[in-house]
Amino acid sequence: MEDCLFCKIVKKEIPAQIVSEDENILVFKDVNPQAPVHLLLIPKKHIPSLLELQEDDRDLAGNIQLTATRLAKEMGLAESGFRLVCNCGRDSGQLVYHIHYHFLAGRAMKWPPG
Ligand code: 5GP
Ligand code: ZN
Repeated sequence: MEDCLFCKIVKKEIPAQIVSEDENILVFKDVNPQAPVHLLLIPKKHIPSLLELQEDDRDLAGNIQLTATRLAKEMGLAESGFRLVCNCGRDSGQLVYHIHYHFLAGRAMKWPPG
């Protein structure tokens, strides 16, 4: 996807603070953090939102969650916890239409979100 911001980050055409990378998944720091830890977990493959997720993406979607689990443990967040959020569509506040999971931690968070 030529003009997708996160595809450009995947291709290293736009800089980002990368925290984790494997063949299919990239994790980088959010440029406008909403918590002391605010990461974005994305598939390298361009999928606009959860609405476009296909059966073939089952492993990919599962591996994104397992990446969050691994990072939480590596960062010592098992006790304090973290939040994993995927916004989908207008009412959720999704702004970037390349599917991404916000990983938030390092402060107590309210529920429900605004
Ligand atoms: P959304 O509202 O779509 O769920 O979240 C998009 C997120 O992407 C926001 O938290 C925003 O701060 C982050 N973001 C937008 N542009 C950039 C960028 O160029 N680099 C990084 N690292 N994060 C970005
Ligand atoms: Zn993209």
